[in-house]
Amino acid sequence: MTLAQSGIVPAWMDRGADPCADFYAYACGGFLKTAVIPPDRSSWGAIQLVVKENEELLRRTLEAAAAAKHGADPIADKLGTYYAACMDEDAIERAGLAPIRPLLDVAAGVTDGKSAARAVIALHAASVFPLFGIGPQQDFADATQVIAALDQGGLGLPDRKYYLESKGTMEKTRRVYAAHIERMFALAGRAPAEAKTAAANAMAIETALARVQQTDVVRRDPRKVYHRVDRAGLEQRVAPAFPWGDYLAKLDIPKVTAITVNDPAYYTAIARLLETERPAALRDYLTWTVLRESAGELGRAWVAEAHTMERELAGVKELPPRWRRCVERVDDDLGELLGRGYVAARFTGDSKARAVELTRAIYAAMRAELDALPWMDDPTRTAAKQKLEKMAYLVGFPDAWREYGFPVRRDDFAGNVRAAVRWEQARQLAKIGSPVDRLDWQMTPPTVNAYYDATLNQIALPAGQLQPPFFGARFHPAVNFGSTGGGTIGHEITHGFDDEGSQFDGDGNLRDWWSKSTKSRFADATKCVIEQYGAYEAVPKVKLDGKLTAGENIADNGGVKIAYQAYQQWKAQQAAPPPREVEGLTDDQLYFLAYGQSWCDQATPEKLETMAHSNPHAPPRWRVNGVIVNQPGFGAAFQCKPGAPMSPGKPCSVW
Ligand SMILES: [Zn+2]
Repeated sequence: MTLAQSGIVPAWMDRGADPCADFYAYACGGFLKTAVIPPDRSSWGAIQLVVKENEELLRRTLEAAAAAKHGADPIADKLGTYYAACMDEDAIERAGLAPIRPLLDVAAGVTDGKSAARAVIALHAASVFPLFGIGPQQDFADATQVIAALDQGGLGLPDRKYYLESKGTMEKTRRVYAAHIERMFALAGRAPAEAKTAAANAMAIETALARVQQTDVVRRDPRKVYHRVDRAGLEQRVAPAFPWGDYLAKLDIPKVTAITVNDPAYYTAIARLLETERPAALRDYLTWTVLRESAGELGRAWVAEAHTMERELAGVKELPPRWRRCVERVDDDLGELLGRGYVAARFTGDSKARAVELTRAIYAAMRAELDALPWMDDPTRTAAKQKLEKMAYLVGFPDAWREYGFPVRRDDFAGNVRAAVRWEQARQLAKIGSPVDRLDWQMTPPTVNAYYDATLNQIALPAGQLQPPFFGARFHPAVNFGSTGGGTIGHEITHGFDDEGSQFDGDGNLRDWWSKSTKSRFADATKCVIEQYGAYEAVPKVKLDGKLTAGENIADNGGVKIAYQAYQQWKAQQAAPPPREVEGLTDDQLYFLAYGQSWCDQATPEKLETMAHSNPHAPPRWRVNGVIVNQPGFGAAFQCKPGAPMSPGKPCSVW
């Protein structure tokens, strides 16, 4: 087996770099020296490579479907029709603002607080979400029940802090955003002075909302975002001024009584805002929300203007080609139709069996780890093991494919999108009061990502993540264990035990199953991780938020540690073990190298900074080096001198 066959990309390495000094430079230095971020993307790396291949494959599928004779295959018909309508920019141009005119009329009809509330209701019913959002949620107190959950929302910038703070480039971003709103109003036909006033109004209301919203760090505490108030409480105490009966009736869930809100004070505040704010300002805010959420369905000038914020926040220099945006749209709106062909092309043969085998090996290692952890007392250990026993996994693609019961037309892109989002909203809201569906996927099969859901106590690994360079049925097993086993499966399992996930039990209930003494040791270990990552810079002068990123960092560290043990245990059981060495690299070295290379990535400074302000994940460099310095097996694998930068001793260790 050559190094390339093992799944490692030799050219991505920098053999001249010292792995004990800077492992990211060793694993990815070659990549970083030559990588060029395409002007229509915010980063270029291992993930984007798979994303790009997927986009091209899906494009071929959709172009063939769009060109095929109508009626031969209902799935291809629907996919082809949707894609063709999205690609027909001339028809979209001709439609002008007509597709969203009814929504704009709703916003324009506001004359006082009462009509503003009616407008909010009508917009939510049409899947446009000013002020807050609604969806189904398993009751944190009884995860067998699905209740309605209201959550703060209605902002156009990534987080409330962009309206209130001045870290890094935030002030500039605010100015760019306000100018963008103004240009969008001008496109909608407002005279220059009116557009300026409207932008100021929209900005003022978003800022007022930001002031009463919870911070992202507070929101990581499940007890702070769960307040079961029920309908009577919402109607009588929390926000009596808002017509909740009409709201639920218009959203077609009139009988719902079980409701949780993220924070009662927020709904009191927004009901008051509707009562006291100037009607003209409310009209502008609601109009802006409609324009912001539907710009992508409109003509070229709108799409180009909407790109302003992608450029500002993610550093994407150029608008991605139309076909890419349409592929993404079909994946969003008809993902399980599109995903069938993807799975048939990219996740066949023994792919699923191999991924399940890997998943089982990681579970087994986590079980052994729970037995061995010195800081856990026995009652907590027993509860943790019960949680792991109950943790389910979804691998690759759904057992039963979703059907999309709404018609689509070749000449009405915006109408198709509206139909799709309304259909999805109805599907989501229908879950309230229904039994929990444990087989419902929250990502589509081609998605290059994975997730853990705490109320389901379940991990999900889409086929898109189980691809080279992350996973290959013929790769050296150490590579699959390091990249997919540690970086994906171990990472997601560990989320069940990170500072957030650990507050839910094996049945998905928010319940404290920790003894007091073990909990305080867990808090100390978590603090170590918070301080470690809080010292890292995302871009010069902008540090990571150790608290915001704690859960992801715990998951990264635990995942790589557990998968390393899983690999050792798995290898010991093989009658014919895999090669111990490939081109001078030991299999243990391959393991860490595979993990490191899974994060080879060059990102724009804009993206790195936006992530630092609003994303719970650390940037790729720290997802590698921040993890490596804590790995007990790393120093031995690379024969690092004690005290070397990547083997400093005194590691942070949670799981
Ligand atoms: Zn994660």
